[in-house]
Amino acid sequence: SLASSSSLSADINPPVTNGVNGQSLTTRVQVVNEDKEFSKDLGDHIERWGLHNAGFGYDVVAVFGSQSTGKSTLLNRLFGTTFDVMDESNRQQTTKGIWMCRAQNMNVMVMDVEGTDGRERGEDQDFERKSALFSLASSEVLLVNLWEHQVGLYQGANMGLLKTVFEVNLGLFGKRRLDEATRQRTLLLFVIRDHVGSTPLANLQKTLTLDLTKIWNGLSKPEGLEDCQLTDYFDLAFTTLSHKVLVPEKFETDVQSLRKRFTDRDDPNFVFKPAYHKRIPADGVAHYMESIWEQVQSNKDLDLPTQQELLAQFRCDELATLALEMFNTQAKSVRKPVEAGQVVEGLGGMMQSWKNESMARFDRDASRYHPGVYARKRADLVAQINSGLGPLFLGQLKNLHKFALSSFKKEVLAGIKGDGYDFGEVVLGATARNEGLFREGATEVLLPDTDWSYEEELQQLSHDISLIADQCRADETKKMVSNIERTIKKQMSESIEHSLNQATPDMWDNVLRTFKETLAKAEATYLGKATSFNCTEEENTTSLAILRKRAWQALRAKVDEQLTDLTFLAKLKSRFEEKFRYDKEGVPRVWKPDDDVDSVFRAARDELIPLFSKIQPKDRSLEFSLPSDSDDSTLTDEGEFDFEATLVVFTEAKQADLSTRFRRDADAYYVEAKRSMVSSIAQ
Ligand code: GDP
Ligand code: MG
Repeated sequence: SLASSSSLSADINPPVTNGVNGQSLTTRVQVVNEDKEFSKDLGDHIERWGLHNAGFGYDVVAVFGSQSTGKSTLLNRLFGTTFDVMDESNRQQTTKGIWMCRAQNMNVMVMDVEGTDGRERGEDQDFERKSALFSLASSEVLLVNLWEHQVGLYQGANMGLLKTVFEVNLGLFGKRRLDEATRQRTLLLFVIRDHVGSTPLANLQKTLTLDLTKIWNGLSKPEGLEDCQLTDYFDLAFTTLSHKVLVPEKFETDVQSLRKRFTDRDDPNFVFKPAYHKRIPADGVAHYMESIWEQVQSNKDLDLPTQQELLAQFRCDELATLALEMFNTQAKSVRKPVEAGQVVEGLGGMMQSWKNESMARFDRDASRYHPGVYARKRADLVAQINSGLGPLFLGQLKNLHKFALSSFKKEVLAGIKGDGYDFGEVVLGATARNEGLFREGATEVLLPDTDWSYEEELQQLSHDISLIADQCRADETKKMVSNIERTIKKQMSESIEHSLNQATPDMWDNVLRTFKETLAKAEATYLGKATSFNCTEEENTTSLAILRKRAWQALRAKVDEQLTDLTFLAKLKSRFEEKFRYDKEGVPRVWKPDDDVDSVFRAARDELIPLFSKIQPKDRSLEFSLPSDSDDSTLTDEGEFDFEATLVVFTEAKQADLSTRFRRDADAYYVEAKRSMVSSIAQ
C-alpha cells in the first residue's frame, strides 16, 4: 500500500525503469499534447496511481526552465519518475507537451514540460508561456531550473519568460485581496545546475533575487495592486547541483540532499508547506487542471477562487448524481410492493440507511471542496433524496391506513360474534389497537430531517374508523331492536288474544295496558344496552321511535290476525247466540210470542261491531299515539305511516259489509228462534 504522506517514503534509487513492479504506479501521462489538447485520461491515471482517494493528502510539483537544461533528468532522479530524457548520442527532441507522473512511494504528482526553445527558434512562444503559466497555477512548488552561467543574464535564459508568467499570474491573483486568509502562496525553488563552486550559493541567490525584484518592479500591475510585492505571492528558495558529467558522485549527493526537502517533513527546508496547497481534492485534480488549461488556452483571466467554486459545483454535482443513483437503485426494490399496497416491514429503517449511505458517500468526497458550494449541494441532495423517499412515506401511510382499517373491521366483526360481548368495549379496544398500529408504523417510516407528518392521515383513519364503528353500531342497534320487537310480540300475544276473546266493553283498555307495559319494559331493555354501545342521544331517540312504531305495528298485526272476517263473524255469532239463546243469568231462553226477537238480534250485532271497529279505550289516559310520517319523515323506512289510520280496525264500509254478512248467518238463528216460538205456542 502507498504511503499516505510524502514524508513517509523510503529512500529510493532513481531513476526507475518501466517494467519493474509498480509500473502502473509510475506510468506517465501526457496531460497536454503537441496540439495543446488536454488529455481525457488524467483522471484515470490519478486513479491508477492510487491517488484518487487521497483527498488533500497529495502534492503537486512542476518544473520550469529552458530546453535541455536537464529538467527531466532531475525529476526522474528526485522522484523516481519516468519522463523522457534527451538521448545523449543523437540529441533528439523529446515529445512536446506537458507530462505528469506519480512520484515513486510519494503522494506527489510531478509535472514535466517539454517544449521547443521558442526564444531561440522564434516559434511557439505561445506554448511555452501557456505551459509555464499552467505549471505555476496548478503546482505548489515550481522548480526553476537554470545553468549557473545563466545567472545574471537577464536577457538570456528564461528570465524574460518569467516576466510574462509573473505578469499574467498577477492578473490571475489581481482580483484577490492581499489579506485574504485563504490566499495561497507558491514556492519558487531555483535549482542552479552545473554549479562549479567558485561563486557561492549566497551570491548566486543574491543576484537572482535582485533580477526577480527587477522583473517584478517592471511588471504592469493591475489596478489596486500597484504596490504589491513579489514576496506577497511567492516564497523563494535556492539550491545548487554539481556537474552531472564532471562530478557524478557529487551530483548524486546533491540530488539526495535536495530530495530530502521533498520527503522529510522534519527537514527545516521541507517544501510542501500547507500554505502552498491548492486545496483541490485529489479526485478533482483532473477536472481542475483541465479547466485551468482551458482558461490559459482561451487567455481568460484566471480567478482561482471562482475556479475552485466552479470545480466544486462540477464535482459536487457529479458526486451527488452518483449518490443519487446509488440511492435510487436501493430504493427501487420497495417501490413496487409499496405501490401494490403492501405495508413494507421496517421501511423507515431501510430508507434511513439508504439515505445515510448515499449521504456518507457524497460527504466523503464532496466535503473536500469549497465549503459553501459543498454545503449548498449537500442541502440540494438531501432535498432530492427526501423527495425521492416522499412517495414511499406517503404510500406506506396509505397502506397502513388501509391495513388498520380492515384490521379494525375484522376485529369488530370477530368481537361481536356470539353472546356476552360488550359492543362499546369491542369498538373502543379495536379503535385503540389499530390507531396504535398505524401510529407505530407511521412513526417508523417518518424520517427526521424532513417536513413530513402523518397527522392528517391519522385523522382520516380515525374518521374512517368512526364511520365503520357507526355502521356497525347501527347494524347492532337494528339487531337489538329486532330482538326486542320479537320479545314484545311474544309477551303481548296471549294477553291480547284473551282480551279480544273476552270482548268486554273495556277490551281496548286491557289491550293498551298490556301494550304499554310491554313497551315500557322493552324501552328499558334498549336503553340498558344502548349505554354500552356509546350510542348518541340522537341515535337513541331514533331507535326508540323505531321500537315504538314496530311494537305498535306488532300490536296491530296481532289485532288483524285475531280479527279476520271469519273469526270476527264467529265472534258475532257466538255473542248473538249467547244473547239470543240465554238470558242475562245464563239460563236458556224460552221465547214467548211477545218477545222482541229483533231488538235482541240488533243488540248483539250493534254491540260488537262498534267495539271492535276502533282501538279506543274507555279510560282516555290509556290512549297511545305515535307521530305520523307527516310529523317526522325520518321514520319512513317501510311505506307511509299514518297513526290515526292504524286506530281504525274496521272502516265504515267494512262495518257495513260485516253487518250484512252477519245478518245472513244470523237469519238462520232468527228463523230458528221464530220457529221455536211458534212451536212453543203450539204446545
Ligand atoms: P530537459 O530537456 O531539460 O528535460 O533535459 P534532459 O533531462 O532531457 O537532458 C538534456 C541533456 O542534458 C541530456 O543529454 C542529459 O544527459 C543532460 N544532462 C542532464 N542533467 C545534466 C546536468 O546536470 N549537467 C549537464 N551538463 N548535463 C545534464
Ligand atoms: Mg525534458
